Amino acid sequence: MTSNNHSPRIVIIGANFAGLSAASKLANNLNVIVIDSKTHFQWTPNIHEILSDVKKADGVRICLHTVFDKLGHTFINGEVSKLSPSSQTITLNDGCKLQYDILLIASGHTRENYGVLGATEYAFGFRSSEEVETIKTRLLALLSESDKPVHLNIVGAGYTGIEVAGEILRKYPNNEQLKINVIDRSQRLLPLLPEKLASDIQMELNAHKVNLLLEHDIQQIAQESIYFADKTLLPSDITIWTAGTSLPEYLKNTSLSSTHNGIIVKSTLQTPKYENIFVAGDAASLDQPMAKQASIAMDMGEHAAININALCTGLSLTEVRIGPKPVLFTLGDINTYFVYQDLVLASPALSAAKEAVYQLYMAKLTAMLPLEQKVSGLFSRLISTEKLILAEILKCRPREILTRSKLI
Ligand SMILES: Cc1cc2nc3c(=O)[nH]c(=O)nc-3n(C[C@H](O)[C@H](O)[C@H](O)COP(=O)(O)OP(=O)(O)OC[C@H]3O[C@@H](n4cnc5c(N)ncnc54)[C@H](O)[C@@H]3O)c2cc1C
Repeated sequence: MTSNNHSPRIVIIGANFAGLSAASKLANNLNVIVIDSKTHFQWTPNIHEILSDVKKADGVRICLHTVFDKLGHTFINGEVSKLSPSSQTITLNDGCKLQYDILLIASGHTRENYGVLGATEYAFGFRSSEEVETIKTRLLALLSESDKPVHLNIVGAGYTGIEVAGEILRKYPNNEQLKINVIDRSQRLLPLLPEKLASDIQMELNAHKVNLLLEHDIQQIAQESIYFADKTLLPSDITIWTAGTSLPEYLKNTSLSSTHNGIIVKSTLQTPKYENIFVAGDAASLDQPMAKQASIAMDMGEHAAININALCTGLSLTEVRIGPKPVLFTLGDINTYFVYQDLVLASPALSAAKEAVYQLYMAKLTAMLPLEQKVSGLFSRLISTEKLILAEILKCRPREILTRSKLI
């Protein structure tokens, strides 16, 4: 496939937060091709709630074929295996080659196993609704099979690992059969967030009998055990890997400069070496480091689209300006935290804010879908909100909400 002479071919790799935001800002009379190895957009900030049945997988997914039909762009469901910037060519897994005039890399980060033996084979990932559903089913099967203890180990004490632990506690409160460990090689949990928050969450996890194994270096994961560098071992019926991320394989050996954080870009989101290659979202590494967050990825995607339009029409490109964004994350139904730089607010009532963000963005993203899909999507999402509200009413815990609400 090659581009025609009249309209530059714009190829976007990745159709989640950054890629979809960019594509939706590019006019349908442009020659836009979007490639993603997945068939659905995934709202990752809430996928942990599938574990507790608060959300169904359908409530956090949107079919990409339908979205791009509506946007008037071509969608290819395929995996990019190679990028050759000098020949402006990308190669898909099936061998198909595609040329671009302008490229937007929005393929995010993927799971990084840090060379731990057996991690790919024996540890579940936690980056898609499909992976979360598999974990949910396996856990339910193990708990109902016998009365034997079920050892569940979460590798990684960043906010994904903590949200996973919280969601399991929401689903199985006070379950003596379940033995949960959160393991990390760092000295404290949530290393990227304020220490006072980490202390509060550590206290909650201890109170709920979740064992924290910090400064523990995993060497190998086997089917039923985890082996540490100090030769000790831990039984493990389910190991969940949330420990780290890195650029997808196809970006690891290109002529694009990168750091562990992503591909180095200028403030226009172009790579320094190739002016026709833009990078947005988790895949981008700006001078001013930015958190790997969905809202930041969306802002970058939109800005990349503005600059791609400018490049196509001969206008000047502008610098991206994105300030720090707040983070909202939940520890199941125990507490929800709002973090903005050094400000940390905790309250179970804040879960309503996280739910509202999810509802608003999903409504915005599905606004372009055909009516029947819009209605069925809205219906399945509202069920999750209803479940959260109903659960709070049934628990009838106004005093608990008050005592847990605090400025940390
Ligand atoms: C479990 C979890 C919870 C999170 N919670 C929050 C939260 O509460 N708040 C928040 O702000 N952020 C959260 N994040 C982070 C947020 O999801 C990311 O910052 C955001 O997804 C980045 O968007 P992106 O578009 O850059 O990349 P992604 O969303 O990762 O999208 C990349 C896309 O590229 C595709 N792709 C990758 N490689 C290829 C390839 N070779 N070929 C074709 N397609 C490819 C992928 O299939 C994917 O669709 C969470 C992340 C996870 C995993």
